[in-house]
Amino acid sequence: MFDTILIANRGEIACRVMETAQAMGVRCVAVYSDADAGAKHVQMADLAVHIGGPAPADSYLRGDVIIEAALDTGAQAIHPGYGFLSENPDFVDLVEAAGLTFIGPSGDAIRKMGLKDAAKKLMEEAGVPVVPGYHGENQDDEHLSGAADTIGYPVLIKAVAGGGGKGMRLVEKPADFAAALASARSEAKTAFGNDDVLVEKYITKPRHIEVQVFGDGTHAVHLFERDCSLQRRHQKVIEEAPAPGMTAETRAAMGQAGVRAAEAIGYSGAGTVEFIVDGSDGLRPDRFWFMEMNTRLQVEHPVTEAITGVDLVEWQLRVASGEPLPCTQDQLTITGHSFEARLYAEDVPKGFLPATGTLTHLVFPAGCRADSGVRAGDTISPWYDPMISKVTVHGPTRAVALARLDRALEQTQVGGTVTNLAFLGALARHAEFSAGDVDTGLIARDLDSLVEPPAPEPRHMVAAGMRALDVLDGDWDSGFTLWEPLVHTVSLAWQGDPCDLLMRAEGPDRQVWTVDGQEVVAERIGGRWRVGGTVMPDVAMAQGVVTVFDGYGLAFDVIDPLERAAGAVGDGNLIEAPMPGLVKAVFAEVGQAVSEGDRLAVLEAMKMEHSLLAARDGVVAEVLAGAGSQVEAGAALVRLEPEEA
Ligand code: ADP
Ligand code: ADP
Ligand code: MG
Repeated sequence: MFDTILIANRGEIACRVMETAQAMGVRCVAVYSDADAGAKHVQMADLAVHIGGPAPADSYLRGDVIIEAALDTGAQAIHPGYGFLSENPDFVDLVEAAGLTFIGPSGDAIRKMGLKDAAKKLMEEAGVPVVPGYHGENQDDEHLSGAADTIGYPVLIKAVAGGGGKGMRLVEKPADFAAALASARSEAKTAFGNDDVLVEKYITKPRHIEVQVFGDGTHAVHLFERDCSLQRRHQKVIEEAPAPGMTAETRAAMGQAGVRAAEAIGYSGAGTVEFIVDGSDGLRPDRFWFMEMNTRLQVEHPVTEAITGVDLVEWQLRVASGEPLPCTQDQLTITGHSFEARLYAEDVPKGFLPATGTLTHLVFPAGCRADSGVRAGDTISPWYDPMISKVTVHGPTRAVALARLDRALEQTQVGGTVTNLAFLGALARHAEFSAGDVDTGLIARDLDSLVEPPAPEPRHMVAAGMRALDVLDGDWDSGFTLWEPLVHTVSLAWQGDPCDLLMRAEGPDRQVWTVDGQEVVAERIGGRWRVGGTVMPDVAMAQGVVTVFDGYGLAFDVIDPLERAAGAVGDGNLIEAPMPGLVKAVFAEVGQAVSEGDRLAVLEAMKMEHSLLAARDGVVAEVLAGAGSQVEAGAALVRLEPEEA
């Protein structure tokens, strides 16, 4: 076994790898950017090396600097985590040339799976079923549209170098093909520097089921499947294992296909073979097709760990250090069911806009595994993925595991930023999902009900008011009882809407509040506050914001009456960047008339593209940023002519 390894990553995955490595007695070296100097993964590490600026290109993607850090600190191996350099075959070759071990597959194996077209060809040869389609060399527009006609609509255009759902377009009918091809190509060109595409049959109402494989360079085993059908815009939201409705026959067929794929490329380490599955008539052994192989440890690996009892990172370290596969296929079994939800700092009602902020409060309940790269007090910076944590649960049956997920989400407390907790909670309670009736379109079909914005009740406002006035530990003999006439006001704002609350204290254990003309009684019984007849939820206050931990976290601004008068009203004339990012496109031209909701610009930030819309009807007065410019949060991009009085 290695004595020291370097983890070429950050956030939750760096922490997760260290947890296992350190438990195995392996020393861990962390690397960090300027933005991560105080990060959890740095604190956990035995040694940490600063590698550059906050932009990934200046730090976590600098293979040369990372290899040097490994050599300087006496590390014998590098664990790449996921993302960043994990699927970069040139990096693997450099690591090996430096005399170090890459904890993962060979550069050649990664190369073979790196492009979707070449991978599909290779898999076809290995006898793995692939999605019917055209993945040849001819990239002429006409040839591709002819291929689409042969395949039959609907078809999916995919960038061969694609990942993260980029460069992918669904085309419903021949008339739309040319435009979709052009936009897939341009997106692929910017994202991957390669605009080659393939065309494949679009499976309607499909499921995404993937097989976890593990190889030693020659032989491979599979650790069963994960169902990742719950997706938003082709990105996974909640994953589970095993797949609902899986039969022994189909599981064996998919597992064998996964093993064949891994063995065909001499795969070493943990990998995932992704299949698209037509589940319209049950899960059948002739209705799944290879999509791609991810040659790394996957984000959702904990659900596999939960049902198999295997620590995949331990296996990675053991196999990379030269040990044989820790067990044979028939020693692997499934116990119970597991779910993982990806908890993000994002504003769901505002179109899942990634958020930043300081986590003033962060508590996970017992009964779940929370893999997180942040602690209370840490900042979600605009530089990286806004993931706060993965919440994983396990139970003897799918129903019990789902109930545990529901409860874990309900009891997770995050203060200081908006989160997608309510969205995840709504999914955990979704009738079709509960019934195991999943497909990749479920979220899109029910989006409106899943993203309903929270509506606080008067009792929530009172709970917030009690914390803001600091009367929770109210002691009748102290301070505030001397104030006359025992009536206090507090001003809170819910999403910008101010509201005044009135409180009349009737003793240390009883207060009568008035909210919007409605009376709500707060009473302390047996040391526990009840508000409006129900137990008062937990509350936390920091930086002028009170968060009430009910309904997945309701945040109220506490308004200082002195500041209210000065409070600036947002300038409806300006379209501003909500976060730092790269301006991808500007659609506004000076003099152009625009209507409320028109898309004026596209900003790329935190791995995603965000449309910036006109807040009102008007005429464009000025365009202040062009495509390709890097802008700060709050930068003005477009200015409208002032509204006539
Ligand atoms: P999965 O199929 O497991 O969701 P993805 O390819 O979407 O895998 O990405 C895996 C993870 O890698 C993401 O959740 C993200 O944290 C990280 N990641 C991917 N691309 C980048 C990137 N360009 N920069 C930083 N992190 C990235
Ligand atoms: P990426 O590299 O972006 O992860 P994938 O090829 O893995 O791209 O596809 C991402 C997602 O797109 C899948 O999980 C699935 O939801 C959807 N998808 C991909 N191929 C098809 C297809 N042929 N038919 C229907 N949906 C598909
Ligand atoms: Mg994929």
